[in-house]
Amino acid sequence: MTTVRRGREFLMVPGPTPVPQRILNAMNRQPVDFSGPDFIALSDRLFEEVRALFETEAQVFLYTANGHGAWEAALANTLSPGDAVLIPEVGQFSEGWRGLAQSLGVECRTVPNDWRHPIDPDRVEDALRQDTKGEIKAVLAVHTDTAASITSDIAGLRAAMDAAGHPALLMVDTIASLGTTAFRMDEWGVDVTIAASQKGLMMPPGLSMVAANEKAQAIGRTVATPRRYWDWVDRNRGEHYQRFCGTAPELLIFGLDEALKMIAEETLEGAIARHARLAGAVRAAVSVWAEGGAVAFNALAPESRANSVTTVLLPDDFDPECIRTPARDIYSVAIARGLGQLGARSFRIGHMGDVNEPMVLGGLAVIDLVLRRAGLPVGQGALDAAIAYLSAVDGVAE
Ligand SMILES: *Cc1c(COP(=O)(O)O)cnc(C)c1O
Repeated sequence: MTTVRRGREFLMVPGPTPVPQRILNAMNRQPVDFSGPDFIALSDRLFEEVRALFETEAQVFLYTANGHGAWEAALANTLSPGDAVLIPEVGQFSEGWRGLAQSLGVECRTVPNDWRHPIDPDRVEDALRQDTKGEIKAVLAVHTDTAASITSDIAGLRAAMDAAGHPALLMVDTIASLGTTAFRMDEWGVDVTIAASQKGLMMPPGLSMVAANEKAQAIGRTVATPRRYWDWVDRNRGEHYQRFCGTAPELLIFGLDEALKMIAEETLEGAIARHARLAGAVRAAVSVWAEGGAVAFNALAPESRANSVTTVLLPDDFDPECIRTPARDIYSVAIARGLGQLGARSFRIGHMGDVNEPMVLGGLAVIDLVLRRAGLPVGQGALDAAIAYLSAVDGVAE
């Protein structure tokens, strides 16, 4: 007998996230002449509008690439082979950015972390103070590490860099935080910010963004890393077409236009508040499950728990696929596997992008169901706790 699945499939992984029908509709059209006035006007406007998401006056570059492309763009434009960078470890994504930097010939120094705590600005300050020769050219920070589900304090990190009096660039990966968590590029003194389309911005994968301030672009004009597609100088030269280094990803640009309209309607603050509220419901449920002793939050400090994703630790001898597989195959809820050193003992609940209360409550109900089916000792009443949380927080009763 073949299994026929009815109803909606829930995509509760931390990227890609569900794409609203409005964005799909905006993309459902024929490509256009990329040198025509309409497309030029549209994309020129979007280069400006994306800056509001980062809360910056810095210049934005758009790449037909996923987040890895944005990672590489930020590094290739600001570092030469042999330069050193400092990477405060948080989880698999700080590790991933480090690996990419290494493959460009950059020397990576790490501030180690157990993946259960946010970036410690004091330890970054110490590491920078020890760099008396000024070898460190940039600090690479992941705002929300999607493996650890931890959000770090970027303003605090900048304060630590200033306290050390160190001139390194501050580059921040906001791929899993933009649109879900406050991020203020200029106010916080961030020099380069990267983001991608398929997480909080509700779009399909394939478009990424980099914002680079004057300081970073000035350094960019001097670095030796060979590059063409990523090159900021080249993208600022001449024809509009060069802003994309070739044919623009037009349908993604139409989608981006619609995504920005949707965020403007909700307001960025409203979208962030919604993510905070839904994350609170998830945490209320996980707290109750944890009372049974078998599962736990990966992020130890409650204030570091991300608005966009929650990593749940499982017992050491338990295969996380015993949770993921029935959730997906029987109940149509895709939750994510753990990554890196958390791979064998965690699962992750994505709650980012175009999500609302029934989606989160439905997903939590299925996770409750599969935890019980698996025979794990978990506290009872997780859904009640999530509902109680939602009924109590501001904004829900309006
Ligand atoms: C998803 C993610 C990435 C990688 O993005 P891809 O589009 O998969 O290349 C990098 N950093 C963070 C924080 C992410 O969440």
